[in-house]
Amino acid sequence: MKNDQKYYKFFEYLKERFGCRVYKVSIDAGFSCPNKDGKLSKDGCIYCDNKAFSLNSRIPAQPIESQIENGIAFGRQRYGAEKFIVYFQAYTNTFAPLNILKERYDVVRKFQDIVGISIGTRPDCVNEEILDLINSYSKDYEVWLEYGLQSIHDKTLKLINRHHTYKDFFKAVELTKKRNIKICAHIIIGLPNETKEEILETAKTLAKLKIDGVKIHPLHIVKGTKLEEFYNKDKYKPLELDEYVNIVTEFLGYIPPTTVIQRITADCPKEFLVAPLWILNKNAVLNLIEKKLEENNTYQGKTETT
Ligand code: SF4
Repeated sequence: MKNDQKYYKFFEYLKERFGCRVYKVSIDAGFSCPNKDGKLSKDGCIYCDNKAFSLNSRIPAQPIESQIENGIAFGRQRYGAEKFIVYFQAYTNTFAPLNILKERYDVVRKFQDIVGISIGTRPDCVNEEILDLINSYSKDYEVWLEYGLQSIHDKTLKLINRHHTYKDFFKAVELTKKRNIKICAHIIIGLPNETKEEILETAKTLAKLKIDGVKIHPLHIVKGTKLEEFYNKDKYKPLELDEYVNIVTEFLGYIPPTTVIQRITADCPKEFLVAPLWILNKNAVLNLIEKKLEENNTYQGKTETT
């Protein structure tokens, strides 16, 4: 992280690492999720609707090749990107037999200018064989595994119906670290019944684990989810913008300056969103976080962890 920065932004990392503009192409590779297909549960996480999370899940299924091709063309035209990372985003992208995983990951090899692969998954959906396969791509690409953790507190994980524990995440991190794979943890701020202290415990734990990247999201209510039912019955109240900004600012204080912050707010199409509406104004959220860090004279990694 450069001295003039308040936190280590992903696009800065990519520029330093690859020397040019790099665009992340998100795809839906047609995987499922054990928390939705009945292996663990049919209900899914209480906030989950992949159509709200991922553009490619909102349109009719397209071959992986076309998604990558279109994503590259978009990134070049809109952002002047020269290199690309393919992000296997929708659902659980390690939840299939090894030969299927290999077949779908191998599609990236058909394209030039791809410098990285990022694979989103659950911490209970990896093992030595899957990690060995993923690691095999690190000879040619920078490889990231993005684990949905959300919180280190098992009582919260149970409440949001994650069907995995913190221990599953810890084990996945240990196994992954033995390989040339970078780890990004996904965290949600504002989960039901979590106090600020509990949220900051998650930050402190990630700091100790020396994770390579973090994605931080404010919990938002998507139409048709269990969380919407909680909200309608007054069992859940989303964070106000200033509450989110205050917590995220403190959260960053605990995260080591070498950890890349891949995301610090959420994206949700208006037609899917119930609340809080402030997430629709992404730039305002980002500006307020910068302002708060400035006001509090703090930055990523400033707070000592014990
Ligand atoms: S693990 Fe991911 S895809 Fe599966 S239900 Fe939860 S949020 Fe949805």
